[in-house]
Amino acid sequence: MQAIRELYKMGRGPSSSHTLAPERACRLFTEVNGVFPYYRVELYGSLSLTGKGHCTDQVIIETLPSECEVVFCLDWDEEFPNGFYLRALDENKNEVMKWTVFSVGGGTIEIKEYPVNFSREIYTENSFDEIREILASEDISISEYVFIHEPGLREYLSDMIDGMCACVQRGLKTEGILPGKLHMYRSAAKLYRESLDISVAERNDLRLMAYAHAAGEENAAGNTCVTAPTLGACGVLAAMMYYCLEDLSVERDRLIDALAVGGLFGNLIKQNATISGAVGGCQAEVGAAVSMAAAAYAFLMNLNISQIEYAAEIGMEHHLGLTCDPVMGYVMIPCIERNAMGVLRAIDAAVLAKYMSRVRGHLVSFDMVVQTMNETGKSLPRELKETSEGGLAKEFEHGF
Ligand code: SF4
Repeated sequence: MQAIRELYKMGRGPSSSHTLAPERACRLFTEVNGVFPYYRVELYGSLSLTGKGHCTDQVIIETLPSECEVVFCLDWDEEFPNGFYLRALDENKNEVMKWTVFSVGGGTIEIKEYPVNFSREIYTENSFDEIREILASEDISISEYVFIHEPGLREYLSDMIDGMCACVQRGLKTEGILPGKLHMYRSAAKLYRESLDISVAERNDLRLMAYAHAAGEENAAGNTCVTAPTLGACGVLAAMMYYCLEDLSVERDRLIDALAVGGLFGNLIKQNATISGAVGGCQAEVGAAVSMAAAAYAFLMNLNISQIEYAAEIGMEHHLGLTCDPVMGYVMIPCIERNAMGVLRAIDAAVLAKYMSRVRGHLVSFDMVVQTMNETGKSLPRELKETSEGGLAKEFEHGF
């Protein structure tokens, strides 16, 4: 299994697959091959169908050092459904070099012609059952397990928490209309103001939702956010981290441990299923984020390893089948509100795991639910996997 560092990354919104990944590929292409007079980039799959709304063309043009034509294409014959060809051209616009880039989810890229290992396998265990056995045999905690495998991760996660909190803070301070044809107003600041003068019973929920909106709106505006595990789903863990620091005064070291625990569950989902909406639908993005946040919150509640697993399992189980149908290709509807609901569901999952485990042991394991998510993702029609050709995207555009 790969490093948790590769799961949490700071980058420019609105989509890890559609902006962060192409930006990384273009930057690397220039670092490795130098500068060419012209470029031509051909986008395929979800990158082609929702690339406009996700600003993929804009990011590519801004990242490559010379003039670039971006073309939205169909008929992609490569083995992974979401990718692009990056062609370097000479002064006569003849091709001199080509990279085939796959955007595999969460901003991670694979390049056919330049097989750099961005995501080195550093964990030998690849399932939660295997990890649980190691924890028992070596008598270590789940967070110790992570930090043994990834020295230096603690400082890195502290930076990620800063990035998440900065993103929420900016989102809470900014008002106005988000870019794009939807002309959607930001809501985070107004929601937060509402939370100042309501009953305690509703206040915490509304604040959490305001924080998730803040992060989601920053992402939709193309600003810097932290993948957790993707940018489309960045609001769930960002809201939780901000809430724990600002409203609950949880110690930073404890939050770092919780983020590591959540990251481990996210990594298992990435390893055994997918974190790409274009491959598995939104269950792979917001579903994965809720599962990670549920595990993190269960850890903060001092639950035991079985209860933490239960929380992560509940978080994913009740997002199975969740489709990806962003309206007009913008990471706004249903994405932003879905993050707000997601952070509440994550806390609910941890609380339910705590009390259900006293009533009876859980019957569905985390490994089982991840396998189910993977199979469900394969069964979802292409229209419901980040193509904006089905679901809410289709209905909304009919009435627009
Ligand atoms: S619907 Fe979910 S998976 Fe699709 S773009 Fe929005 S957040 Fe990402």
